Amino acid sequence: MKPQGLLLVLSGPSGAGKGTICQMLREKLPDLAYSVSVTTRQARNGEVDGVNYFFKSVEEVKQMIAEGELLEYAEVYGNYYGTPRSYVMELLNQGKDVILEIDIQGAMQIKKRFPDGVFVFIVPPSLDELCSRIYKRGTDSEDVIKRRLASATGELAYANEYDYIVVNDVAQKATSKVLTIMDAERYRAARTYFIIDEICHAAHKEREI
Ligand code: 5GP
Repeated sequence: MKPQGLLLVLSGPSGAGKGTICQMLREKLPDLAYSVSVTTRQARNGEVDGVNYFFKSVEEVKQMIAEGELLEYAEVYGNYYGTPRSYVMELLNQGKDVILEIDIQGAMQIKKRFPDGVFVFIVPPSLDELCSRIYKRGTDSEDVIKRRLASATGELAYANEYDYIVVNDVAQKATSKVLTIMDAERYRAARTYFIIDEICHAAHKEREI
């Protein structure tokens, strides 16, 4: 029997470039399922409901939490964010690979439930670079930017909770590194052991003929 799909979790401070890497991975791997999160934050210019996020009210998210509809959730920079449970579970059970781009608190919740997940921490090459990326993005207010920058150093301290750390200096290179990690993870004995069963089963059949 084939094992569950690979659950890839990407985290890192704001401005590390997770979003870009996630997008590039999806272009390279069209079968990789991206879990669209729910959030209570306001949509930014150009963001589409159901594509970037499911934009919800605080009451709606609280209800989802109460009804166990979220696989994990966290309050990040003053807003709720969470991963819808049913979508992720369905795809994993079908053997599909799923990517979650979530914060550290959420990733730690997922790690407890899915110790076989692949946890990748994306970091910027320097804090100066991180700062200039957040400003250049121009999508957040000064107040929000300051909050995100203040959190960044503290967030870096969680890097060793992850399986891999990828420095994102050039997005394409960082994406290739994540692809290499995914390839290696697919060959883990725990994930490929079913092949041994298949080989033994085939050998047994041959002997019967
Ligand atoms: P942004 O507001 O920039 O889109 O996201 C802010 C932070 O929330 C990022 O670190 C992002 O990875 C994280 N985030 C997005 N979706 C989720 C989610 O479903 N759960 C958790 N825990 N964090 C999320």
